[in-house]
Amino acid sequence: VSFGYEDVAPEEKTARVSGVFSNVASKYDIMNDAMSGGMHRLWKDQFVRRVKPQPDEAILDMAGGTGDIAFRMAERGAEVVVADINQDMLDVGIERAMDRGLDGLSWSQQNAETLTYPDRQFDAYTIVFGIRNVTYIDKALREAHRVLKYGGRFYCMEFSTTEWGGFKEVYDLYSHKIMPQIGKAVANDEESYRYLAESIRRFPKPAEFERMTREAGFARTKVEPILGGAVAIHSGWKI
Ligand code: SAM
Repeated sequence: VSFGYEDVAPEEKTARVSGVFSNVASKYDIMNDAMSGGMHRLWKDQFVRRVKPQPDEAILDMAGGTGDIAFRMAERGAEVVVADINQDMLDVGIERAMDRGLDGLSWSQQNAETLTYPDRQFDAYTIVFGIRNVTYIDKALREAHRVLKYGGRFYCMEFSTTEWGGFKEVYDLYSHKIMPQIGKAVANDEESYRYLAESIRRFPKPAEFERMTREAGFARTKVEPILGGAVAIHSGWKI
């Protein structure tokens, strides 16, 4: 199992990922804007348009962090559980939700690989920029499938490496040289952002990840590339 450029024991990856997000929690939202030039907001809007949350639907937003995706879905009337392995990220989210006076949200510390929910609880499962941090992705996908109702939908947005001519070189330079520098300047934390860049490089390519979602039991799987595949929205159904 890899953590950044190092090979580590699986339990150690989970613990270190927790450490990374505890370090970045208080600066997380500012950093997203700095790193993506604000683009993450547009990708998140597009993602939620694809999920089409309906009033009173029960949605599990896994690796929900500080609530960006959950807030957008709760604004459309869905009942959203924000689940994350890291309580520091959730605490920032709880505070943001209070500031906004948002209803329809609950918060729960959970490991995506071992959810504490019974089978068939949710109408939709979302996970955005989270699954590449999970140690055993196949386990997390099977858990996603288990907690969905029949007819439920799975939506995942994740970074990827792109094959666009020229773009790949620029993107590699950006993620390996510039991202850690912004991390250092804004959050005084170069290492965490080095890990995040490397975790993007190591995440399976869209076709391989789609195969993994099918293996976990999802049907009618689909991949929608954004920015030439630098970001991709994956979806599937439990039928
Ligand atoms: N979804 C949010 C967003 O788009 O702003 C947060 C994304 S943040 C980059 C990744 C999140 O994944 C972190 O909050 C981290 O704690 C969480 N995470 C990492 N490993 C996890 C695991 N095994 N189970 C649940 N959450 C995990």
